[in-house]
Parts: sequence; C-alpha cells; structure tokens
Amino acid sequence: MDFDLPAHLNEVRESVERFAATEIEPAIAEVERAGIFPRDIVRKMGEAGFFGAVFPESVGGSAMGFLAVAVIAEEISRLRPEFGYCMNLQAMTCPFTILNWGNPSQIERFVPDLIGGRRIGMFALSESGGGSDAAGSMKTRAERRGDRYILNGSKMWITFADACDAGVIFAKTDPAAGHRGVTAFIIEPKISKGYSAKPIPMKSLSNVLRSNAVFLDDVEIPVENRLGEEGEGFKIAMNALDYGRLTVSARLVGLAQACLDASIAYARARTVGGHALGRYQMIQHLIADMTVNVEAARLMTCRMACLMDRGEPATRAASRAKYLAAQAARHAALAVAEIHGGYALADEYRVQYLTAYINMLNVGEGAANVQRILIAEDALGYKNANRHRVRRHDAKAAE
Ligand SMILES: Cc1cc2nc3c(=O)[nH]c(=O)nc-3n(C[C@H](O)[C@H](O)[C@H](O)COP(=O)(O)OP(=O)(O)OC[C@H]3O[C@@H](n4cnc5c(N)ncnc54)[C@H](O)[C@@H]3O)c2cc1C
Repeated sequence: MDFDLPAHLNEVRESVERFAATEIEPAIAEVERAGIFPRDIVRKMGEAGFFGAVFPESVGGSAMGFLAVAVIAEEISRLRPEFGYCMNLQAMTCPFTILNWGNPSQIERFVPDLIGGRRIGMFALSESGGGSDAAGSMKTRAERRGDRYILNGSKMWITFADACDAGVIFAKTDPAAGHRGVTAFIIEPKISKGYSAKPIPMKSLSNVLRSNAVFLDDVEIPVENRLGEEGEGFKIAMNALDYGRLTVSARLVGLAQACLDASIAYARARTVGGHALGRYQMIQHLIADMTVNVEAARLMTCRMACLMDRGEPATRAASRAKYLAAQAARHAALAVAEIHGGYALADEYRVQYLTAYINMLNVGEGAANVQRILIAEDALGYKNANRHRVRRHDAKAAE
C-alpha cells in the first residue's frame, strides 16, 4: 500500500497548474464579460490531455487511469472550479458512458472529439420533478417511429446544454415500466430541430460554463443514436454516476483545499489585537479540522480511483467518498468564511465564489442525503451497494 502519488502524476498536477496560469487566468475575465462559452480553452484542455486519462490510445486517450482523473479534477477545481465541470462532461459522464455502452460506430463518431475538446458534451438526466428520484420523476418521453425516436419533454439543470454538440440524454420509452422503461440516447443538439436550452440565472456561478433548462419539442433522434438497449437507460445512468462521483469528489477535495489555502494565507497575514489570527486557538481549531478533513477526503477519493483502476466494484466507495468530500468541503466553506470575517463578503477574496461551487457540488451527482441513505442501507445490510456488476471499458487492456 503506497499513499504517495507516483511521480508522473505529480507532473500531471503541475501541468494543470501551469495551464490554469497561462491559458485560463489571462482570458477568463474577458470570456465572462463577453458571455460566450470558452470553446478555445476547452479545446486546449483536450489537447493537453486533461480529458483522455481513462480512454485507450485508439480513440485519442492516454490510458493513464482513474487516479490521473482524480488528480486533474482536484487541481483544476482548486484553481478554477468552473472548469471542473469539464472533467465530468468532457472526460467522464458523457464520453466515458459512450465508451462503456456505445457500439464501435458510436465510439468512433463521438468519443475522440469529446475528449479532444473539439465537441462539447452534456449528461442530461435530471428533471424539474426532483433530481434525487431521477427515474421516478422522469416525464420526458421517447416514442419510436420507424427508424427514429421522437423525444418530448424537458430537463433541468443540464450543464453545457447551451453549448453542447453531442450529449447523453435519458427518456422513457415505456413509462409503465418504471426505471426499466428508461432508455439512453446520444443527442446532437446543433442538428436537432425542436431542441432548445435556456441558461438558469445564477449570479454566484460562472456566466459562461453554466447549467440550463432544456426543452424537447418533437426532437428526432435516429435509432443508430440509441445508447444500449431500450430499457437499459437507468442502469446506464447509475453506472455513469458512479464514475461521475469520482470527478465530483475530487473537485470537492480541490475546493476544500482552496478554502484551506486561503484560510492559512489570511490567518497568517491578518493581525487583530496585536497578533496574527493564526495565533488564536479558535482559529487554529478550524485550520486543524480543515487540514485533516481535506486529507481524509483525498484519501477516500484516491481509494475509489484505485478500485476503479483495478476494475473492482466501486459504488460503495463512490458514495462514501462523495459524501465525505462534500462534508469536508462544506466545513471548509464555513471555516474560510469565519476566518475572513467581513472580508469573506468582499469580491477581492474568493470565499463566496468557492462556497457557491461547494454548495453546487454538494447536491450534484447525488445529494448528501441520497448518499447517506445508500451508505446506511449498505452498512445495515439492507442493500448491498456493490450489487451491480461494473461496466467499464478497460483502456489499458484495449491497447
Ligand atoms: C449547478 C448544477 C448543475 C447540474 N448539472 C447537471 C447535469 O449536467 N445533468 C444532470 O442530469 N443534472 C444536473 N444537476 C442536477 C443535480 O444532479 C440535482 O440537483 C440533484 O440530483 C438533486 O436534485 P434536486 O435539485 O431536484 O433536489 P431534490 O431531489 O428535490 O432534493 C432536495 C433535497 O432533499 C433531499 N432528499 C431527496 N430525497 C430524499 C430522501 N428520500 N430522504 C431525505 N432527503 C432527501 C436531497 O438530499 C436534497 O438535499 C445539476 C445541478 C446543479 C445545481
């Protein structure tokens, strides 16, 4: 058992830091002001290999593995949390789901461009009726007519839906069959008449890397874009979310680390009552708790990544890590605000910005209570969290 990152992953971490400093920082203020999706930056992230770690070289990946994904997602989120979304939509829930469940033609048509950052992805599962009960609340219908499916309905909160070129979307082909009536499709919004996306106003998050309400009005999807079989959609979604939870946990660790870094810098620099804040015991308690929480969440996230790298079931590890990482990050958000006092509200500091992304990731890809239910039912022996067989395209074996 080795708890240190291999040297090449430390280099990967440094390359993410360099990328954020040279490609994102100089451009982001203008991109946000202009309100245009930063395709150039996402394409450069793809070219730098940020999205291809769990993909075989045959589709443009690097086959480095899940631990590399965790490292990249943590680092980008520590520095620029809004670009953390890309690790889900360009590296995991969209293209990895197509790799795992798609046929060779679908993989060839969509995966290389998504992980290369040349096309923008999305993962459209949630609806307004309640994201925590995705299948139960799903009203979107897909009706087969000859060689096409006709989709009608709406989706809620779908990140990148306003910029998407090719995404995974879920709809009910057999509403009477409950979660067994859900089917997955690959949708190409730019060539789909009847598709529209409306960004959800959220002042605290990015103005360009954003989430949307999606409307589907007689949208035609050719049968060859169905992902898996009819009725397999819920299984595909749950499988995708296990992998998505790796990036979400790592992103939460990155955010918690950013709160800790900011807290340490501020506590050392700020003098109150003749002493640096860091000299006061109550501030030290906060720093101590943040330090161990971040470390514990990082270890659980890396453990999940290692299980995935070994091809072992990781649903249990994924829900535990996601829950713990969210707890660590939420604690860090409260602590960083406490330490900054009134300055937590000033735009000069990143406290509000980090907190907004932590709150978002606390609900995304399985809200805290939903993870708790899963963890407790598994612990109590009511439901084995790892009961489903993993579906994973092994990038290393594929070479
Ligand atoms: C910024 C942002 C981006 C997102 N991007 C995407 C995306 O790209 N694609 C996508 O498909 N979805 C996306 N989502 C949706 C996200 O996955 C959902 O918000 C999440 O699943 C929770 O659903 P909900 O918001 O409807 O909350 P609800 O399901 O209404 O839950 C509300 C609260 O009740 C709790 N709760 C729910 N059920 C129970 C229960 N049985 N017992 C106790 N407590 C319970 C939850 O923990 C939560 O705290 C995004 C969300 C946000 C905010």
